[in-house]
Amino acid sequence: MKVILDPKAGICGGVRRTIQLVEKELSREDDQEVFVVGDIIHNEREIERLEQDGLKTLIPGFLDDLTNHDSIPNGKSTVLIRAHGEPPRTFKELDLLGVDVIDGTCPVVTRSQDLAREHLLKGYQVAVVGKHGHPEMIGILGHTDNKAVCIQSEEDIAKLQPDTLTLIMAQTTIGSGMFAQMVEKIKEHVGKIEIRNTICRFVLNRNIKLPNFTSEADVILVVGGKKSSNTNMLYRTCLAINPRSYHVVSPNEIEREWFIGSNSIGITGSASTPIWLLHEFEETLNRWIKAGWPENAVEFDV
Ligand code: SF4
Repeated sequence: MKVILDPKAGICGGVRRTIQLVEKELSREDDQEVFVVGDIIHNEREIERLEQDGLKTLIPGFLDDLTNHDSIPNGKSTVLIRAHGEPPRTFKELDLLGVDVIDGTCPVVTRSQDLAREHLLKGYQVAVVGKHGHPEMIGILGHTDNKAVCIQSEEDIAKLQPDTLTLIMAQTTIGSGMFAQMVEKIKEHVGKIEIRNTICRFVLNRNIKLPNFTSEADVILVVGGKKSSNTNMLYRTCLAINPRSYHVVSPNEIEREWFIGSNSIGITGSASTPIWLLHEFEETLNRWIKAGWPENAVEFDV
């Protein structure tokens, strides 16, 4: 049995930058507390690692309800804004708290926020194709005073003014298919349009390369957080090509039956799956295979 690690898998530049910013803050020797607004990454294992080093996670909108937090930022705290970005309101609130703010918004997301705001100021209505409630969507809409419209399904299109000059853009992590489909539907409803495909290049390239990798192995493990849109999208892509694809967060979720009769296992991950986690899967599987797995059961040993 062969274990193949997807050479294109690994965390994207935007999330890597945010993790590096927070690691630098956590390594400081003073007593500054380090917070992040919302999960720093959609990966439970990486969050666990950083929280063990002292990172504290705040629920977005935390100032509206402080009851869920043991400690809240004060003048001796640093608060990091994650790669998804935040609406201006969050920055204003943090300013009032007198904390040090580190803006880890991915530059690609900042460009989307600017694009939406600038077009709105020029008189366009702005349609952002993506997911309701996704943190990046909340941030982009916030930068337009919530005047831009999130388009997740055809029902949302009715919220757009007909016969109006419209910018159509995308949440950075959605699939090209969803974007193209919604653009066609929006076109039928509004007037003149300008289309900006703001899907992140990293995400686009992964989607293009993934089908080749998926067909190279008998069984595919898609490693990534359960809340990660990008992981869920990659998983659906893999499943459509190889029905023996499984979405997992930790090696302890692996079930032996998935692999009986197979000769190869492919391991891949999304924009938010750290490489150390992919290596953990690779090393674990290789150790088990050496012990006669999957035909023989082995002790879970991570
Ligand atoms: S997926 Fe793209 S847009 Fe999103 S954080 Fe990573 S690099 Fe930035």
